Amino acid sequence: MSEITTTLEILAIRAYGAIPVNDCDYVGEDGLLVCGKCHTPKQCKPFHGKEAVVFCLCDCMKQKDELDRMIRNRRQIERCRTDCFGTSDLMRADFAKDDGKNPKLTQTCKEFAERVKSHESPWLMLWGDCGTGKSYMAACIAHEAINAGMTARFITVPEVEQMLWRERDKSAVYDALNTVGLLVIDDFGCERRTDYMDEIKFNLIDGRLRSGKPCIITTNLTEQDFAAPSDHAMKRIISRLFERVQTCHVQGADRRFAKLRERAAEKR
Ligand SMILES: [Zn+2]
Repeated sequence: MSEITTTLEILAIRAYGAIPVNDCDYVGEDGLLVCGKCHTPKQCKPFHGKEAVVFCLCDCMKQKDELDRMIRNRRQIERCRTDCFGTSDLMRADFAKDDGKNPKLTQTCKEFAERVKSHESPWLMLWGDCGTGKSYMAACIAHEAINAGMTARFITVPEVEQMLWRERDKSAVYDALNTVGLLVIDDFGCERRTDYMDEIKFNLIDGRLRSGKPCIITTNLTEQDFAAPSDHAMKRIISRLFERVQTCHVQGADRRFAKLRERAAEKR
């Protein structure tokens, strides 16, 4: 093949614009365009016995394609993480940073994360005193789900109240929370008790159960509160919740106070 023919063919391919043609590219013995960087074909004849020629990705373009896909995935995951946690410290929660002080809790949460990632719809309630690490572990599960490509939201009931206050279309707020892959309702039951807040709580639980999607609840409510709800509204919420939820009692010293004590001791 003469050099002029080759150049003309490359010009024709370049004009066609299907794939980027570099100055170092050349036409091989078989008349097909070859990448000048990785020396693998940019054209092929996929239809046996026919002369039809189509463009294909050479090895370095395949690698770049794969890299672009990974970067897009990573950005999408980071967007989901921000949507889930906003500016909260829990943005950096990670099972790898767990201090292992409560192995049963760690195991329960890791198993739960696996079930969520397997597209099951489990419900988990982490209940116990303040500062025992319930929210942190719930956040670790949410991070696992996000890393697996799922969407998640970490909210409190007062935050939902704010969202409902801002949004004209109230059902859109609930719809958004019911379509998310994993919902975490943090500090459930510590908000002020009014008929309106009770209604929000019931709607949240009821809507999420109907959606058939997984949910985590962290709460300071006690066994006594579950067994003998203080009034009819609370009984209605608790009874709907217990149709599905697996409970895990989180015990231990208040880790926040322990950290403050450690810091104070370091300063001394
Ligand atoms: Zn190449």
